[in-house]
Amino acid sequence: MEATHQSDPACLFCKIVAGEVPGEVVHVTERTVAFRDINGQAPTHVLVVPRAHYENAAALAAGDPEAAAELLTSAAAVATAEGHDDYRLVFNTGAGAGQTVFHTHLHVLAGRALTWPPG
Ligand code: IMP
Repeated sequence: MEATHQSDPACLFCKIVAGEVPGEVVHVTERTVAFRDINGQAPTHVLVVPRAHYENAAALAAGDPEAAAELLTSAAAVATAEGHDDYRLVFNTGAGAGQTVFHTHLHVLAGRALTWPPG
């Protein structure tokens, strides 16, 4: 399928957005949904996703820049709501960079010391 389709019936994160697969949702906006990562790597580990299906951050930015911007404001809102001034935002893009789910998602990580460079 093309990356800009609104929904992919085979996509896990489309199913979480639709409520067809359970997710611990912590924040919603018109264009985004934020839910806790099932395998959290920090005290706060939330994934912010666009409601529409785009396979990575670049495709989202090209296809729906307003939604791309909303991911960032949602991520900041999540960090603030969980009491974090210091946090890390990550888009893994491509399998070689660690992307395993091909629906754009912004990782929000906080609540422990975060070292650099990441592994
Ligand atoms: P990626 O490796 O950057 O693609 O991140 C995918 C993330 O999705 C990983 O951190 C997984 O732990 C997380 N994940 C996979 N399945 C689920 C789920 O069903 N609910 C919430 N998070 C999930």
